[in-house]
Amino acid sequence: DLIVFWHRRDLRLADNLGLAAARAKTAKVVGLFCLDPYLLKPEAVAPARMAYLLESLAELQQSYRSIGSDLLILHQPPAEGIPVLASQLGARAIHWNWDVEPYAQARDRCVREALKEQGIAVHTGWDQLLHAPGQVRTQAGDPYMVYTPFWKNWRSQPKAAPAPSLWDCQGLTEAEQDCARQAGAVPLPSLQDLGFCWQEPLPLPPGEQAAWDRFLAFCNRDRTIVDYDQQRNCPAKDGTSRLSAAFKFGTLGIRAVWQEAMAAYQRCRSDRTEAGIEAWQQELAWREFYQHALYFFPDLAEGAYRERMQNFPWENDPDLFEAWCAGETGFPIVDAAMRQLNQTGWMHNRCRMIVASFLTKDLLISWQWGEQYFMQHLVDGDLSANNGGWQWSASSGMDPKPLRIFNPVSQAQKYDPQGEYIRHWLPDLADLSTESLITGEISPQQRQARSYPAPVVNHAAQRQAFRDRYQNQHQ
Ligand code: FAD
Repeated sequence: DLIVFWHRRDLRLADNLGLAAARAKTAKVVGLFCLDPYLLKPEAVAPARMAYLLESLAELQQSYRSIGSDLLILHQPPAEGIPVLASQLGARAIHWNWDVEPYAQARDRCVREALKEQGIAVHTGWDQLLHAPGQVRTQAGDPYMVYTPFWKNWRSQPKAAPAPSLWDCQGLTEAEQDCARQAGAVPLPSLQDLGFCWQEPLPLPPGEQAAWDRFLAFCNRDRTIVDYDQQRNCPAKDGTSRLSAAFKFGTLGIRAVWQEAMAAYQRCRSDRTEAGIEAWQQELAWREFYQHALYFFPDLAEGAYRERMQNFPWENDPDLFEAWCAGETGFPIVDAAMRQLNQTGWMHNRCRMIVASFLTKDLLISWQWGEQYFMQHLVDGDLSANNGGWQWSASSGMDPKPLRIFNPVSQAQKYDPQGEYIRHWLPDLADLSTESLITGEISPQQRQARSYPAPVVNHAAQRQAFRDRYQNQHQ
């Protein structure tokens, strides 16, 4: 009477709809994770993200063991490995939670077909979103293309309560464990075994427990959430949750998060503090907006959403790209941000917008180069949010108006007025005046003494060059 639960972006036992549904049918539930070689290609993977994934899996395996079951690991293409494992184990069904990504959907169809041939039932449903794609539509019944009306509608709809946690299970017998090994189950590999290396502390400690602890601190203990509307744009402050890897891999359940955030919201209702919580909830809605967008418009993954931006005349200068990647553009706020990404695997949202605008509008380099670089470095790299952020910044996405071209100097002036963030990530420049750090007006001697490059472009000229090209495309 065994059910296998296939974990993908839901690495937790609590508030997991698919897992709770499986447990409601039988006590004998075993977890499975499949390390899919297709998703482990070095050009698509950030070492930090892989480290987060593997350590979260290690914790999940421990959690399963502590409730009497186990998490099996396969390291092969899912459509090959899963049907063999399931049939060898005599599983009566496989459950999983859906994903919006085009690759995941095609993969799931193959796995489903192969299981059907073996006579094994498949049960699936949504889990990682508060509202599934299709649940939030315009009055005409279409998916939203613009965020604000989406948010209003999304916000007004009732949200589901958390799913019950898993707290006891019946695991595999020894004979069944042998069987699983013969069918390809392997010990969880290390990061090194997979050919990656990451030695820095992760921006968020891995696993379900750490994610929940961080969330409770953010929401209740330190109450950072209360000032979120005021602090979230200052990259020098610890004003955001830094939970993005947890949302990406589902070490946090979204219904439990919503319930807790709403409880905090109710407690704050009488004073201004509810503004902070609502501003944070809006970010959760951005996450869902982009996931719905990818679900309904899978071509987003391939190129510009707007036809007129599909053949944009990018210059794609490889030397400028290299300078951007290395944080060597001579624009301090841009370089500080890229160094934060390269060193930690995470970058503040304000800075993601600044460097994305800079790459596309100042360096005239295709947003897709930046999109890929982010996927190779971000601990939270996620197709829908990353593609959404890049297309927003490149003005190639759904909601391109007004034409946004960030000025790195005024961005630094507004969001890092004391130069704290720049000083932190560019320590060689720390002794320069705040004015120099913000404006980038640093003398050739000062640059030379600090091995800091001269600006690689002139912002005003590049801004005009982008505008001209953009207008040509839109005539
Ligand atoms: P908080 O401010 O605490 O927000 C809470 C959660 O809401 C985040 O953890 C995230 O899950 C979600 N969220 C917040 N902002 C956004 C947003 N604009 N779009 C979608 N979801 C959001 N986010 C990713 O998770 N993965 C990515 O690969 C990614 N790439 C980006 C690329 C660009 C060019 C830009 C401009 C933004 C990108 N973002 C991405 C969105 C955002 O920058 C990060 O989610 C955020 O910085 C994570 O920090 P946090 O957890 O402290 O966020």
